[in-house]
Amino acid sequence: MHDHTRYLAAAHKAVAQAAIVCDRVQADLERVRSITKDDRSPVTVADFASQAIVGRILTEELGEVRLVAEEDSAALREPERAAHLEAVVRAVRHLYPEMTTDDVLAAIDVGNGEPDHAGVWTLDPIDGTKGFLRGQQYAVSLGFIEGAHPTVGALACPNLSVDQTVPVAEADAAGSIYLAIKGQGCSEAQGGTDAGAKPIRRTDLDADHAVRVCASVEKAHSSVSDTDRVLEILGNPGEPVRLDSQAKYAVVARGQADAYLRLPTRKDYVERIWDHAAGSLVATESGCAVSDVRGSPLDFSQGKGLEQNAGIVCATPDVHARMIEAIRELGLAKA
Ligand code: AMP
Ligand code: MG
Repeated sequence: MHDHTRYLAAAHKAVAQAAIVCDRVQADLERVRSITKDDRSPVTVADFASQAIVGRILTEELGEVRLVAEEDSAALREPERAAHLEAVVRAVRHLYPEMTTDDVLAAIDVGNGEPDHAGVWTLDPIDGTKGFLRGQQYAVSLGFIEGAHPTVGALACPNLSVDQTVPVAEADAAGSIYLAIKGQGCSEAQGGTDAGAKPIRRTDLDADHAVRVCASVEKAHSSVSDTDRVLEILGNPGEPVRLDSQAKYAVVARGQADAYLRLPTRKDYVERIWDHAAGSLVATESGCAVSDVRGSPLDFSQGKGLEQNAGIVCATPDVHARMIEAIRELGLAKA
């Protein structure tokens, strides 16, 4: 049997510590760029360091784990990547000074697991890489999946303030963390491992309430024109709030927006499990409905991709029902 409470405590610690390391690299973008002589390298360095921290902490807390993570250490082992590897090891040693280069590579490789219906962890060490590079929102996302469903989720949003009066485009120093166990609700804590978590809960909107929507910053990840058409049917002329990463699920879960729409821009794009496991559980456990554009539940039992699904609709239950109806009416949900 899986001990979900113990898993969540381990996942909380893992994403909180990984977030601290990512934040440090983000604050030091220019220096990392100059060492590695590559514009996108800070995200590479933070990605691997984050994965090493999570691999290390999960193993320390839970013993041998099955983890499917986005990154693979093979690229980092290439001789021409020596500067990157050194920067990753330096970032990890900030928290674990005793770790050798081999320890760091082994911790990254904890993430080489394969999906398993009996239970598997999935990690996106940095979700929202474009946001990370812009100094804006990104997330460290860790979920545990059993069969078709995530059952434990920990989502660190290192730049998202718990204070909802702070605009989401602004990077907050402490950040926030969202924690959920299937069937047990969801809670929000400030960044770091010590802060107490408080439950968050959504209810339906008043009928005359304008629907506040959030969507990707990157136009290639969700159709802007289709989002506008859906909103037109719902009768809401407001501009969607744009932010990167699974922080969008958190923003809906905590009531700062009413819906997160991810409408496919390409028929052949398959969403990855690590991009939705923790975030979708946080949203459902807050009382929101999450499905694909056809209204079908997300099916996490199909390997590393949500092969049976297309796009994402996450919203309070009333808004979700209206959105699925609007999407159907517009013919956007065809297989
Ligand atoms: P977001 O920050 O919401 O824009 O989402 C970032 C995630 O979008 C990344 O983790 C990618 O895995 C994913 N992604 C990449 N290409 C696409 C695409 N064409 N459609 C939807 N998502 C994508
Ligand atoms: Mg991602």
